[in-house]
Amino acid sequence: MSDVIELAIELIQPSRRIVALTGAGISTESGIPDFRSPGSVWLQQPPVSYQDFISKPEARQQYWQTRRSLAGQVAGAKPNAAHYALAELERLGILLGIITQNFDGLHQDAGNSPERIVELHGTSREAACTLCGARSSMQQLQQRIDAGEIDPTCSLCGGYMKTATILFGQRVPEIVLTRARAMTDECDLFLVVGSSLQVTPAAALPRLALMKDAPLIIINLQPTPLDDYADVILREKAGVALPPIVAALSQVEYPLQEEGKQ
Ligand code: NAD
Repeated sequence: MSDVIELAIELIQPSRRIVALTGAGISTESGIPDFRSPGSVWLQQPPVSYQDFISKPEARQQYWQTRRSLAGQVAGAKPNAAHYALAELERLGILLGIITQNFDGLHQDAGNSPERIVELHGTSREAACTLCGARSSMQQLQQRIDAGEIDPTCSLCGGYMKTATILFGQRVPEIVLTRARAMTDECDLFLVVGSSLQVTPAAALPRLALMKDAPLIIINLQPTPLDDYADVILREKAGVALPPIVAALSQVEYPLQEEGKQ
């Protein structure tokens, strides 16, 4: 076991209210590419912005084209060792919650309770109208697209439909942000897993934790702007770094386990 993993175990051991912030990096080992790693196709062809989606038919077509290739990867993806390690933290009764930038649903698939997960950027498992907000299953919308619709609109109000995710240029709903901030406020350790910490408002959350003196652990392959403030940095794959830490915690007897589970 590396020294830095031992350091992380030592730091995390007294914690009872861990909050994990996860980004696209936690799901790359499940086969879903992130945007910011070197060589990403997104660096050559940036994702469609919300403003373009609403105002330009060609941007909506590009959106659905990109989604077609990404949807296969997301639909077939299974949780990896890092997702399961976070589910184990919840089972141990020491995870307050997960705030995720991901929309792939893999934390739920790994076994974390939906009520302990804040999906900052929404979910690609549901569809939503950009005008009235009406939701439907993504499966239903996909059937319409597969049947030949190129620019699907809401059957209730005629607004443009898309996945229930946040596009670049779109605001995270205030209610979601409030939950994420409240969770962060309650934590006694903040754990970042697979996030570049370059996307706001997610990037502001570890700063909030630091301001209330919660220790910060960052597991990320690339450097982040908060590395200098972190108590421990693990520059390793999440699926390699996280399981031994959680396995070591599993050996600890937690007297507050039932209480922590709520
Ligand atoms: P990001 O800015 O959080 O960057 C991902 C980070 O993860 C990078 O810094 C990279 O070094 C790191 N990383 C990659 N693989 C890793 C691994 N195995 N272990 C540890 N770290 C690893 O995210 P992004 O890629 O720029 O995406 C921006 C936004 O796009 C996300 O916030 C999300 O909303 C969305 N997105 C979601 C998914 C998903 O749901 N799986 C995938 C791609 C993008």
